[in-house]
Amino acid sequence: MRVRFWGVRGSLPVPGAGTERYGGNTSCVELTSAAGTRIIIDGGTGIRRLGKELMRAEFESGKGQAHILVSHTHWDHIQGLPFFAPFYRAGNRLFVYARQRDDQNLRSVFAAQADAPFFPVSFDRTRAAVAFRELHDGVKFEIEDMRIATTRLNHPHVATAYAVVADGARVAYIADTAPFSDILFGQEFLSGPPSPRSKPSRADSAKLKSMAAAVTRLCEGADLVIYDTMYTPEEYRQFPHFGHSRPSDAIAVCRAAGARTLVLFHHAPDRSDAELDAVLEGARAQARSAAAHDRKKRTAEAT
Ligand SMILES: [Zn+2]
Ligand SMILES: [Zn+2]
Repeated sequence: MRVRFWGVRGSLPVPGAGTERYGGNTSCVELTSAAGTRIIIDGGTGIRRLGKELMRAEFESGKGQAHILVSHTHWDHIQGLPFFAPFYRAGNRLFVYARQRDDQNLRSVFAAQADAPFFPVSFDRTRAAVAFRELHDGVKFEIEDMRIATTRLNHPHVATAYAVVADGARVAYIADTAPFSDILFGQEFLSGPPSPRSKPSRADSAKLKSMAAAVTRLCEGADLVIYDTMYTPEEYRQFPHFGHSRPSDAIAVCRAAGARTLVLFHHAPDRSDAELDAVLEGARAQARSAAAHDRKKRTAEAT
């Protein structure tokens, strides 16, 4: 399975000299199996360039097919969709998957962002055949030769995590999510951090615990885990109510799941390439010391 990153940024696109190495586009990852099945996770602004590349091949002649898995419909995960060229070529077949909502159907959510006065081309004018699939938390399904598993994440208005298995490899995509410890997110907006003394209720703690266990299961033995690591520890202390994690949270999940490689993802818009290098170095040091600790523990257990 081939994995390509077309956008790795959270919140909003940030082009410029300070972000050109890691890139300034918002979330979009492409997974392709050896047999040619194509899954795109999230339609942030990165999907525009992917669309242009696809139009150089079978999507240009209306013979393309792709499956777009949407983690959630916050702006930075769907903003590029109206600019995804394969939508506008008759014959292409596109399938969009996202969590079922209580209030409106998926098609109307995506169509709304292309409605006047926000965009000149209404969604009804797309020429490709577009089908929407609404997902329930925890559902598993297959797309050609790729197997998909899902679970719910801890994020304002809820997000969906995906694991994709193909060609003997497993890739997990965990964005966006807060850690599973301090706040249980639902459908309401939190205007500030909870008071330092407040703790989640017993019921909320139980829900967080089972959510964490499901995320760990999703990452079990993964070859690659792509994880929302937007915040430094200091930023998390200031903004725990925005629903994002730190590298240490991602490392803990990967360690519990026995995952092989972690990709830090959904970078804060103000983080420059040089600052990201420093975040990466810090995360590598943490992962190394965690691995050394685990080795020591295993040796002690074996003797
Ligand atoms: Zn996001
Ligand atoms: Zn979000």
